[in-house]
Amino acid sequence: MADTPRTPDVVVIGAGPVGENVADRTTAAGLTTVIVESDLVGGECSYWACEPSKALLRAALMRADASHVPGLAPAVAGPLDTAAVLAHRDRMAADWNDEGQVAWLKSAGIELIRGHGYLEGPRRVAVRTADGGVLRLRARHAVVLCTGTGAAFPPLPGLDALRPWSSREATSAPRIPERLAVVGAGVVATEMATAYQALGSQVTLIARDSRLLGRMEPFAGELVAERLREAGADLRFRTTVTAAARAQGPQDPVQVTLSDGSRLTADELLLATGRAPRTGDLGLRTVGLTPGDWLTTDDSFTVTGVPGAWLYAVGDVNNRALFTHQGKYQARIAGATIAARAAGTPLDTGRWGRHTATADTEAVPQVVFTDPEIAAVGLTTAAAERAGRQVDVVDYEIGQLAGALQYRPDYRGRARILIDPERRTVLGATFAGPGVAELLHSATVAITGEITVDRLWHAVPAFPTISEIWLRLLETYRG
Ligand SMILES: Cc1cc2nc3c(=O)[nH]c(=O)nc-3n(C[C@H](O)[C@H](O)[C@H](O)COP(=O)(O)OP(=O)(O)OC[C@H]3O[C@@H](n4cnc5c(N)ncnc54)[C@H](O)[C@@H]3O)c2cc1C
Repeated sequence: MADTPRTPDVVVIGAGPVGENVADRTTAAGLTTVIVESDLVGGECSYWACEPSKALLRAALMRADASHVPGLAPAVAGPLDTAAVLAHRDRMAADWNDEGQVAWLKSAGIELIRGHGYLEGPRRVAVRTADGGVLRLRARHAVVLCTGTGAAFPPLPGLDALRPWSSREATSAPRIPERLAVVGAGVVATEMATAYQALGSQVTLIARDSRLLGRMEPFAGELVAERLREAGADLRFRTTVTAAARAQGPQDPVQVTLSDGSRLTADELLLATGRAPRTGDLGLRTVGLTPGDWLTTDDSFTVTGVPGAWLYAVGDVNNRALFTHQGKYQARIAGATIAARAAGTPLDTGRWGRHTATADTEAVPQVVFTDPEIAAVGLTTAAAERAGRQVDVVDYEIGQLAGALQYRPDYRGRARILIDPERRTVLGATFAGPGVAELLHSATVAITGEITVDRLWHAVPAFPTISEIWLRLLETYRG
């Protein structure tokens, strides 16, 4: 006789930052919630992405700033203390031990089941546990897929024998390779190139495109490329890897052949070439969906094309905005939606819009932690053009601000805002320069709050700070 399945109200598959937040919301709403995790509770962000990558970059970025501040520069000359940086990285990744997060789940009243979760039909979830057993659950109200993404590699012949690094190895490496080849031009490629070049690797970055950070305003990638070159990295644009091979010994280097016919030797090869959804073995066929696909949802994160409003996809796996903060925002909305549907109360799409994502496409903030930092939210000029939206574009060199020169006398950076000429509201902002990360939320508030430039004129930034960029941009716009 088959075991009778257990029947919690909600089953969440994937205990990354997003799954944890969904479970927290549904539990707080009084729904019994089980979370299923096949690896470490905390997900990619805690152990192989945000936390360790930023820990690897912190000393590099601080030194880049400090080495240009008169009186401080000599104190930061010389190489970084690599061992201390790696030890800090280990601490920030909690030594790849999820005890702390497991304790948090317990304190929040969320039940954890370790194992690989998959669907067996509407509302039905099976969990394959480490001992080979299968545990069956039937969710009374909702199943939430929060399984995130994994690295997507290009189809290079002999990939396995190459033992390439993905972002996982790059963020958890026990030592710094002498020579690191990085393939890619996006955020992971540029951040890791910045970190490893500063930590002592000779970095060669190989990019198919003609610039870095191709989804952002062009000046952002240009400034990062300039600094990477000054730091000693070798950047090869409009170039692809045509072949790569590694001899069998663990210490043997990788021989890489490039599309321009040149060759290079590297101790490690990082493939930072994109992400793919972890949906290949989720039992999607049992509910009429295609394994391996990104999951498509409406603005309450209910999966489209599945009848009955019981299946949700939240976080990276829905491909809406692949950031921890956006996934957690989605989790707040999905959690509230599940609770409202369970209680039979109407979905609130009014002033608080508790059950609809309104900031998932128009105002997604992002910081790239390179030298210089890049902070962007909302539309870029190219995105506005693609969308057929007319915008006024306002640029200003941040280095002309007193606050910027106080920060770093050789300050190089640029800001751009996009303004809707009719409504006179800000639609997009990009800041590229040292220390701009903390400036970003002002732009996010301006965009989501739909504040007109006429009102922003009365928001006075303090002197001498980099936030005076707002004043200069508005002055430039007024003419
Ligand atoms: C190198 C790097 C740096 C990044 N830096 C930043 C940053 O600075 N800021 C930022 O906002 N974002 C950053 N990101 C993106 C960020 O990591 C993701 O947006 C975030 O982790 C998404 O959270 P998630 O919960 O959706 O997925 P994940 O964090 O991927 O978690 C998914 C979880 O589901 C589990 N799982 C998958 N399938 C199953 C299954 N079938 N059964 C049980 N469990 C399963 C996985 O083991 C995992 O624990 C970075 C990404 C990378 C790669």
